[in-house]
Amino acid sequence: MSEHMHWSEWLAGRVIEEKNEPYVISGGMTTSGPAHLGTLCEFLFPSVIRDAIEKRGKKCSFYFAADILDAFDGVPVEMEKHTEFLKPHLGKPLCDVPDPTGKSRSFGDYYLDEARELMEKFGVKPVVVRINEYYNEGKFDEYARFFLKNENETRMVIEQTSGKEEKKDWSPIMPICECGKIATTRVISHDGENYEYICDKDVKYTKGCGHRGKNKISDHRYKIVWRLHWPVWKQIFGTSIEGAGIDHHTKGGSEDTCEVITLKLMKKDYHIHYRYGFILFQGKKYSKSKGIGMGVREIVTLLPAEIIKYMLVRPDLEENIDINPTSENLLRTIEDFEGASKLEQGKLDEMGRPERKRAIAFAISTNKMRWKSFLDLLLYYQIYQNWEEVGKKLNDNEGAFYLKPFIEEWIARDFIPEDYRFKYQAGKVPISENVKKYMVGISGGDALSIHNSVFEFAKANSIEPKQMFAELYQAVIGKPKGPRMGKLIEALGVERLKRDLGL
Ligand SMILES: [Zn+2]
Repeated sequence: MSEHMHWSEWLAGRVIEEKNEPYVISGGMTTSGPAHLGTLCEFLFPSVIRDAIEKRGKKCSFYFAADILDAFDGVPVEMEKHTEFLKPHLGKPLCDVPDPTGKSRSFGDYYLDEARELMEKFGVKPVVVRINEYYNEGKFDEYARFFLKNENETRMVIEQTSGKEEKKDWSPIMPICECGKIATTRVISHDGENYEYICDKDVKYTKGCGHRGKNKISDHRYKIVWRLHWPVWKQIFGTSIEGAGIDHHTKGGSEDTCEVITLKLMKKDYHIHYRYGFILFQGKKYSKSKGIGMGVREIVTLLPAEIIKYMLVRPDLEENIDINPTSENLLRTIEDFEGASKLEQGKLDEMGRPERKRAIAFAISTNKMRWKSFLDLLLYYQIYQNWEEVGKKLNDNEGAFYLKPFIEEWIARDFIPEDYRFKYQAGKVPISENVKKYMVGISGGDALSIHNSVFEFAKANSIEPKQMFAELYQAVIGKPKGPRMGKLIEALGVERLKRDLGL
């Protein structure tokens, strides 16, 4: 890989070099709880790679599998008020569990619909496949029959690649019982097409109903087990490239199984696979069900999508990304993004590695910078409380209205760091002799010259600059610290401030 390339560029390069058109990138996930930043990467990363392929003038399809035939195995924290309603459905495929809110077709669809909304917000446009539909249409049938026919070899590959012995009653398929559950069944016998099953497993969160029944593959009342289902969907989609988190890439992980099943058993070509790191919150994996870290639903109210995208695509792909979304950290990210917007896209080849990566990450995240300075808008809005006026004063009308919902959310949630949070208090608090004297002596200027004039005044009058600033902050915002004084006075205007201070 070229040192200077962004990961999406070199992966796109590999696809074009090693695979044949039409290119296909695939991905997928089980939508069983609210989205978090890690979930976002599951569709954001493939989308970024697809864009990089298309940028080179090639066509690439993107299929995203919603794995909602998986068993519903726990009630997410935010759904706890519906526990009584949901409990009887534990063990059923997510697509067969009713949505307690009544909004979506099923419980699995409820979270899939949330993911679709996010895709739209982040400009990700995959073909979303509800995998249960592919099963219903029989797309998986020939593979189910293949694995049943080669049951012993298949089992051996799984045991060798996972390093774990499977139970005696292991089967490549998981039947869905008449009671609706998929988690509690096992196959007792089969002839490659017809099979007999019993629903008697105890999976801790639910138990089988005891029913013994018969079905056939062509009835589509089954799902293939995960370690086989994964390689199969790639055959169905015709995948050229697909990634997975590092947890799938450990020794004994499902990536190893996938490769051997595809190459040795199915005798098919293997796709290019890449792996990506975890999104961490203070060292722990973000978790949709356990409520660790900030949910995406929350973070999108605080930051425009392009900044979140930037934050996720800028680091190296295999690196774990620790995101602790405090207001200080988010402000730092915003400033980093604003800085990246000023890097010249036409001069990528002349940039050093870190700059080039920032510039590419910016270009991936947005096609246009929509505001000038988040901090200025935040500062001016706290003074003027009127977006039109803020836009006019900062000569950034578009930016003011674009960031309006986010800044208002920061204020409503009291999310602003202490140093940037203030209420204009001039005239409402007593002012010192130093402040009086300083204010009378200035007549205007920009933020920097005002800032310097405070220093000069302090020096000329033998006052500690720190003390002088503290007295000024007291007079203007009624507390000893705040946003940069030069900026603050510039924002207020010297004349207005004098007037309000009664000078
Ligand atoms: Zn049953």
